[in-house]
Amino acid sequence: MIRVNEHYAKLQSSYLFSEIAKRVKTYQAEHPAKKVIRLGIGDVTEPLPAACIAALHTAVDEMAARASFRGYGPEQGYDFLRQAIAQNDYQARGAQIDADEVFVSDGSKCDTANIQELFADKVTIAIPDPVYPVYVDTNVMAGRTGKAGKGRYKGLVYLDSTIENGFVPALPEQPVDLIYLCFPNNPTGATATREQLAAWVRYAQANKALILFDAAYEAFIRDPALPHSIYEIEGARDVAIEFRSFSKTAGFTGTRCAFTVVPKSVMAYTKKGEAVALHPLWNRRHTTKFNGVSYPIQRAAEAVYSPEGKAQTCALVDFYLGNAALIRSTLADLGFAMTGGENSPYIWVNVGKDSWKFFDKLLKRAQVVTTPGAGFGRCGQGFIRISAFNSRENVEEAMQRLRKVLK
Ligand SMILES: *Cc1c(COP(=O)(O)O)cnc(C)c1O
Repeated sequence: MIRVNEHYAKLQSSYLFSEIAKRVKTYQAEHPAKKVIRLGIGDVTEPLPAACIAALHTAVDEMAARASFRGYGPEQGYDFLRQAIAQNDYQARGAQIDADEVFVSDGSKCDTANIQELFADKVTIAIPDPVYPVYVDTNVMAGRTGKAGKGRYKGLVYLDSTIENGFVPALPEQPVDLIYLCFPNNPTGATATREQLAAWVRYAQANKALILFDAAYEAFIRDPALPHSIYEIEGARDVAIEFRSFSKTAGFTGTRCAFTVVPKSVMAYTKKGEAVALHPLWNRRHTTKFNGVSYPIQRAAEAVYSPEGKAQTCALVDFYLGNAALIRSTLADLGFAMTGGENSPYIWVNVGKDSWKFFDKLLKRAQVVTTPGAGFGRCGQGFIRISAFNSRENVEEAMQRLRKVLK
């Protein structure tokens, strides 16, 4: 008898985005003439930088000629891209990361989902609330949690991100083994200072714990005092794995390229307490289960680091940050408190008691779609997330509507 993985039955249905879609659909059916503006999505809207498109075309032409054709590439990524990443994203910022510590992949979603395979069944996991749902759900699937009750799974240690702590959670009171962190944060838009990250690194060192650091929104950091990578913190090479993606940096959500950094010095431990390096384990997993990102896409990603590519991706991110500034100033004028929108494409707005009620009000009276914070975790109740990923025209129109409805 083939038995099913019953841990899947514990998963709470991904209520958030399906419920939003349902409410928008119902509203549109009743009001077909109204133009709905979507500021709820976490997807980019602007085309790829010209440097990436040019590199992509050239690489496609290479595939058309026998002399330059390429078949299977190295699963970990081509050296040209791993070198460009190590030099530009790390060494240029004083972080000691070598090219062979970079694993190129087709997404940070997959990497943050798959990394948990390297750890034992019975580890204590700390997860922020509110949070990007992938970290929790993949550990539920793997059987590392109990059942859910009142929106929280038994066995997980939730790290509350609240107004009081500026949406940067405090260190846990009980010992934990695995810690998920994401800065600049989705959904709160909060950033972590050097001192705050250093405290987490010290915690991990003292507890032989591991930090999984999701830096998908690193490119949105404009404050020169904020760290872009956890490896800018002394000692992080021994206790942290970092995830990065070209999705939000350069508009690659439909193109697919990302990478994970596993330093050779980062360790996990056997039952007896012997240290085991994670780099060879991840290398083994990656080469066994993944075929590498296609050659033309890796050339497009490499172009992000050319002088033109750097200028173009910076302009692209600046464009979204311009939208974010518009959203921030409108909401500030209307008297709302918020975080994010500076160094982040997300604005996390304090709307009072009920996220869904506020969501409905904006949908029905302003035809603007946002994301109710309650969908990201218990601590998200009373907040909505507004995304800066849209055209300037749409953001301007949405803000005019909010000014009318919320004044
Ligand atoms: C968008 C996003 C990613 C990137 O995912 P990809 O699979 O690389 O597109 C990773 N983490 C968070 C928190 C995100 O919002």
